[in-house]
This record gives sequence, structure tokens and C-alpha cells, in this order.
Amino acid sequence: MPTDHYAALGVPRDASTEDVKKAYRKLARQLHPDVNPDAGERFKEVSAAYEVLSNPDKRRMYDATGSSGGPGGFGGGFGAGGQAFDLGDLFGSFFGGGAARGPVPRAQPGQDALLRLEVDLAEAVFGAEREITVDTAVVCPTCNGNCAQPGTQVRTCDVCHGQGQVQRAARSLLGQVLTTSPCPACGGYGTTIPDPCNECAGDGRVRRRRTLTIRVPAGVDTGTRIQLSGQGEVGPGGGPAGDLYVEVVQRQHDLFTRRGEDLHATLAVPMTAAALGTVVEMETLDGPREVEVRPGTQPAEVVTLRGLGASRLRSGGRGDLHVHIDVQVPKALDDEQAELLRQLARLRGEERPEGRFSPASGGVFSRLKRGFAGGR
Ligand SMILES: [Zn+2]
Ligand SMILES: [Zn+2]
Repeated sequence: MPTDHYAALGVPRDASTEDVKKAYRKLARQLHPDVNPDAGERFKEVSAAYEVLSNPDKRRMYDATGSSGGPGGFGGGFGAGGQAFDLGDLFGSFFGGGAARGPVPRAQPGQDALLRLEVDLAEAVFGAEREITVDTAVVCPTCNGNCAQPGTQVRTCDVCHGQGQVQRAARSLLGQVLTTSPCPACGGYGTTIPDPCNECAGDGRVRRRRTLTIRVPAGVDTGTRIQLSGQGEVGPGGGPAGDLYVEVVQRQHDLFTRRGEDLHATLAVPMTAAALGTVVEMETLDGPREVEVRPGTQPAEVVTLRGLGASRLRSGGRGDLHVHIDVQVPKALDDEQAELLRQLARLRGEERPEGRFSPASGGVFSRLKRGFAGGR
């Protein structure tokens, strides 16, 4: 058990009330008994910490004394004649933990929801508007999250009289000891619902499929998450909805491979064109563009088309399109072609070339590697 409300919420001692609320909202979603039945104790600690730290008066008192005070506080038991004291309060006072006081609200914060959205490369580069279908809990339209069948009332619990907890007295060596536990009749809510809403069975929420139009910003990539606040799951008792996260998955493009903000493609040209130079028209995401293969282009050389890559999500602007040249050597020659090449070899003094050896890390291998690293 953390000895400290601040530790329970994981916030610094100078955290603002807003930070306290944020930390609580996050933890409550992870620890709520509906989600995480094993985290009951931790949920109570977190709730108790939130109750104190979100209330400026209680927090000042807690900071000054290490106790949150309150009606059932330290003074109650020992002060009033020493007849009985509340074990829960005792622990609460000493260790700063203790159970939450008073009824637990029925409305609890809802969870975040996550869904995946496939986009094609052009949508990722230029942005897009997309319709998505979401299946989440929404506030029950019949009872508006109130949980009671329309025309009936939520009633104050007869057993705990709305306190949400009951005290039991037991004899011990120390005298009479009071223990506090959640009211078994109302489950700690302080209220009961004699006629639960028919549509949601008293949960205050129902599942609904709905369609949302979302804007996919230019520059998203696989793994980018788009946050839609308040579009997640509505909580139990019609509690505030969590957020919806749409995680982008970018489909592979037939031609372009994306690495960050740059795109890569391979262009195959015949050996003669690489030697003599040529211009090839290429269909890019921005329409047709000319790729200039200069005379003497080597295998794996890269021609860079500036600004035709992917968009940058945050800083704006575009990356580059790198065209990797694949020089194709003819596999079969007819007699006339072979004779012409022999003539060329003679002219160039290359009839019996010695070749030139170099380490495997140099030459074409490193050019290939550089090419894949972005042509630099
Ligand atoms: Zn309902
Ligand atoms: Zn009760």
C-alpha cells in the first residue's frame, strides 16, 4: 500500500488540480473493477487519493497533517470517550491510504477505444477524409444514463441510508473495534434501482454502431494514432466517454516503398541507355514526371526527385522520391549485336580486360547499401 496519496496517483506534490484529475482519470480507467477485477484495493487507494487531492481544503489539511480529516477522522474514535474507534480511520490516518469515504458514484469514466484504419499511400501523403464505423458503448437513450426504467426512481439505500458503507462493531483485546465495509445491499453506491432500465439492464449505457467522418492529416504513417476525444467508450452508469484512437496502417504501394518521409522506386534501363543517357517518364503520386538518366549512369545509382516524397506530419513540406537505377545487361545477343559489341570492345581496348578487384565492402555493394539508405 503506498503510504502517500501523491504516490498513489503518481503525481508530484506540487501537481495542479488539473494534473490530479488527469492522473486519476487515467488510473481509474485501468483499475476500474469492471476492467480489472484484481485491482480492487489499488482502485480504492487511487479513489481515496483523488478524493483528497482534488479538493483544495482536504488537500491543504492533508499536506499539513498527513491526514485528510473529515467527519470520520482521527478525532472521532479516541476523543469521544475512548469507547470505540474506527480501524479504517486509524489506518487511514497513519498511512494516508484507507478506503474511500461515502458512496461510490455509479457513473465511472469510460475506457479509451482503439481501432485501425487502412489508408493507401496517396491518402497518407496528401491526407484524406474517411468515414469510419465505430462500435462502442454510448449513453443509454432510454434512461439517459440514469439506469432506472423511465417513470421509476433511483432510491436511497435503506441499509446504509445513502452512505454506501456499513460499520460493524466487534470486541477485541483493545476494546470495541469498528470496521467499515462497502454496503452489501447497494454495492457501495448508496442507492438502489428497484426497476432497472429495460434497454440497458441498469448499466446506463448500450453498445451502438455509428459512423464518424474523420480527417486523416497529410503525413500519417503506419502506427500514427489520431485521437478523437470523447468518442471512446461511455463508462458504467453513463459515465464520461474515453477517447477514440484511430491507428493508421498504410497499405503497401505497388511501386513506391516508403521510408519515413522519402519514397523509393526502381527503374530498369538497358545498358546502352545507361551508357548513352536517356529520359524516362514516370507516373508519380503528383502525376507524370521526367527521370533523367545521365550518360554513364552506373548500376544502383540514384536519381532524386526533390519534394515528391511523403509529407512531414508535423513540420510540413515533403520528402524526396529516390529512383534507383537498375542497369540491365542483355542476356542473349544475336550475331550482329555480338559483332557490334566486339567492335566496341576493340575501340575501347577492352578485348581482354584484367578486371579490377576490390574489397567486398567497396564498389557496387556499398553503393547498393547507400542506395537503400536513401541515396546519400
Ligand atoms: Zn437505460
Ligand atoms: Zn447501501
